[in-house]
Amino acid sequence: MSSTSTNSRFQGPFCGCGVPAPLRSSNQDPNRGRRFFGCINYKQPTACGFFLWLDPERDMEKELIQAENQVLKREVEALTKKNEKLRKKYKEAEAKVLGYQKIFFGVLVVFIVLWLGKQFVNVPNTRNMKYLP
Ligand SMILES: [Zn+2]
Repeated sequence: MSSTSTNSRFQGPFCGCGVPAPLRSSNQDPNRGRRFFGCINYKQPTACGFFLWLDPERDMEKELIQAENQVLKREVEALTKKNEKLRKKYKEAEAKVLGYQKIFFGVLVVFIVLWLGKQFVNVPNTRNMKYLP
């Protein structure tokens, strides 16, 4: 097929030769100006013959995918922010729990010390107790 090459950075589909099929425009009527992906080796007899019109519907499909990508990107950004917020909240809660644990442990130690002290004080008291006749 006769065609003019239109350079495009867009990576199209791979043809049967295992290389990306470049996007070109037809210069033949009735498809003049119509774009297509074609095998890069189309002039050679070993060409795989890959050929695919890039129709407006396909452009729309691409635009839809791009729009969906944008939506997904925004969702990922929102979720990343939410994740960061939750991580921060979790760390704060963890610190709070640690604080409460320290307070609880401190109070427990005080009670144990008081209880032991009472035991220690009570023992000599009972020994020294004088029984009334
Ligand atoms: Zn090919």
